[in-house]
Amino acid sequence: MTPGAAGTDAAAPDPVPSDGGAAPSPLEVLAQIGDLDVRLGQITHHVTNLPERETRAGIEAELGAFASEARVLDAQIAGLERQQRRHEDEVALIETKRAHNSERLYDSHLTSPKEAEALTAEAASLGRRQIEIEDQILELMEELEPLNEARADLAARETEAAQRMESVDAAIAAAESDADSERRAVHAQRAELVAAADPALVSTYEQRRSQSRGAPVLGRLVGTTCTACHLDLASVEHERITRLDPAELAECPECGALLVR
Ligand SMILES: [Zn+2]
Repeated sequence: MTPGAAGTDAAAPDPVPSDGGAAPSPLEVLAQIGDLDVRLGQITHHVTNLPERETRAGIEAELGAFASEARVLDAQIAGLERQQRRHEDEVALIETKRAHNSERLYDSHLTSPKEAEALTAEAASLGRRQIEIEDQILELMEELEPLNEARADLAARETEAAQRMESVDAAIAAAESDADSERRAVHAQRAELVAAADPALVSTYEQRRSQSRGAPVLGRLVGTTCTACHLDLASVEHERITRLDPAELAECPECGALLVR
């Protein structure tokens, strides 16, 4: 991916010697512009089809699955914790009642033994109820433990995936930035060539390119082969084209590309 590598194609075999010695023919200049356009297309293709983009989509799906798993777990945990809090509130209430109860039981102003008996019975019943609820709280805590472990494990996996996402994003950003600077270099080179090129040829080329929907509009004639469609020209056609004035435009009879020869 060296900027300008495409431009070195100027050294490609040219069956027709350019008139004027070292200076490339107008068609050759156009061909070099065409090579740079191909290079620009390759840069865009490369950067849009980075394997990291697929990796990123995979991580995104992973994170989505983690998030829905987390929602389910969080709801389960919250439900159990709510129950636990309700039980704890109830225990607190019972403890208050029991404290009040024993205060009255040991109160010297206590009136009758019958009242004492009732208070003792109530204290026993409250004690049983408290043990029952405390058992339920223990059960809830046991139920919560694996859920909390699963949630922590999920959080760790989420963090790990997010870190992978971060490094993939960094790789994509780096590739995009490389592509941008390469594009700028190619554009600069292209602008130089366009400045030196025959404006009529450039405009013909641009017009064809705008209508080509990505198909090559320029080809070199290498031997009898058109590099745009890789087909061999019939010998009659080949002869006719090679005899044309070098400045005259010729199309490949197979694909219609402008032929540089
Ligand atoms: Zn062709």
